[in-house]
Amino acid sequence: MHLTGACLCGAVAYEFDHQPGDVADICHCAQCRRASGAAALPWVQVPPSRFRVTSGTPKGFASSPQATRWFCGDCGTPLYMTDHEGHSVGITLGSLDQPEAVQPTVHGWVCEQVSWFSPPASLPRYDRAPPYDQ
Ligand SMILES: [Zn+2]
Ligand SMILES: [Zn+2]
Repeated sequence: MHLTGACLCGAVAYEFDHQPGDVADICHCAQCRRASGAAALPWVQVPPSRFRVTSGTPKGFASSPQATRWFCGDCGTPLYMTDHEGHSVGITLGSLDQPEAVQPTVHGWVCEQVSWFSPPASLPRYDRAPPYDQ
């Protein structure tokens, strides 16, 4: 499946081929939490040969000796992550043009999961803005 994605302002865009069996992990690690500002960050992992930036120049940050996180230097959207051995590219599911095209398959780093992030079905659910905005 050919998929595309982009940052919030549209300056950086990418494409990749998604194949059955690709791991799609919801990562609960502390680094993903800070990098995204969200409780957890969902990714899909593909070989570098199946991924390509199609427009713009993302900015890179070496978040560990082994990995670089790539994001839009203008709007800040986390886009993808590379490892220095070239094993895989992790692409953020939230930056996909069709975010439901890839279903997460596993949770990662649950040892660092924030305790309040286990979405209980009993909480009220709002299609759009919750009451604070009304
Ligand atoms: Zn941008
Ligand atoms: Zn992580």
